[in-house]
Amino acid sequence: MVVFKINYNFLEVYNLKMEVDQDLCISCGACIDACPEVFDWNDDEKACVKVDEVPSNIEDQAEEAMESCPTEAIIKK
Ligand code: SF4
Repeated sequence: MVVFKINYNFLEVYNLKMEVDQDLCISCGACIDACPEVFDWNDDEKACVKVDEVPSNIEDQAEEAMESCPTEAIIKK
């Protein structure tokens, strides 16, 4: 008898996660202006990601914010 196994991993939903490298952030505020739903100031007056996962409806906005960072401090996890 032949048994076929089907891999369903491709059906997993990819959830975008981001973080800000605190050593690279120069506190310009571009990311917060571009996507305040995801980025905010932290107590050190640097940008941080305030959500565990980027909501799918604002992924494009978050990507634009990432691209707007002059020091490339925003990375995908
Ligand atoms: S755009 Fe980059 S450098 Fe500017 S506040 Fe955001 S993370 Fe920091």
